[in-house]
Amino acid sequence: MSIQAIRTEENLVTEEPYYEPVGQEVEVFASAYRNQLPILLKGPTGCGKTRFVEYMSWYLQRPMITVACHDDLTASDLVGRYLVKGGETVWVDGPLTRAARNGCICYLDEIVEARKDTSVVIHPLCDDRRLLPIDKLGELLQVPDEFCLAISYNPGYQSVLKDLKQSTRQRFVALEFDYPDEAKEQMIVEKEAPGIDPDVARHLVKFGTMTRNLKGGGLDEGASTRLLVNAGKLIADGIDPVLATDTAVALALTDDVDMLKAVHELSRSVF
Ligand code: ADP
Repeated sequence: MSIQAIRTEENLVTEEPYYEPVGQEVEVFASAYRNQLPILLKGPTGCGKTRFVEYMSWYLQRPMITVACHDDLTASDLVGRYLVKGGETVWVDGPLTRAARNGCICYLDEIVEARKDTSVVIHPLCDDRRLLPIDKLGELLQVPDEFCLAISYNPGYQSVLKDLKQSTRQRFVALEFDYPDEAKEQMIVEKEAPGIDPDVARHLVKFGTMTRNLKGGGLDEGASTRLLVNAGKLIADGIDPVLATDTAVALALTDDVDMLKAVHELSRSVF
């Protein structure tokens, strides 16, 4: 039986990721990190949460391990399990255990999607005990000070069934994310879609804001910064702006024929 090692240097973000702060989130994350407090990032999809954690990984010089949570994700997927390899039973650490052993930042994206049994391992990690129970190894791991748990969730998507429980959320320092204001979002689009005409970027962001006003009036979500960046890349590559927003934004947001038309009209009115 062997414990699988991790080459943490592979998970180190070596180049400064481009991140445009929208408030005091860098200072708050750094302070929570120094105080060994776990961090909860709330906000809609595509508004920069993952990019922010990547930036913090670089800023704090701690390797980062990301887990995209889904319906079937169990505590064992996070902690680890025995696998049979070449006739031998081998213990393989899960991503949370690897992060804990090596003092990494562990980012659990969309945590409410995961199975409920994951809270059994997350809770003792998130209070002053900072313990990771690895039941199958009979081990109670005391995590190093460098370890940091960050989780994200999108309050807009959650049903009552999939809300984050008070017993979980009350362990975290919470940071709220939203789409940046128009001037900042234009800077982001220009930086992420190099070559885009600044005036076109400004119009693209204006179009994005208009789609967000349709939220609840036929759209579940407006265009995220991610979708605007995608459209910006197509435009910078020579695609007509209306076609770019139809394909990179409208069709990504909805299948509803009337809403597709409405978003198309918004784009035509802007460009
Ligand atoms: P989330 O994790 O919230 O779903 P991401 O972090 O993946 O969203 O952001 C999507 C994209 O939007 C990024 O790849 C980046 O291009 C852009 N982006 C959003 N916010 C920012 C920001 N504040 N600074 C830099 N890029 C940003």
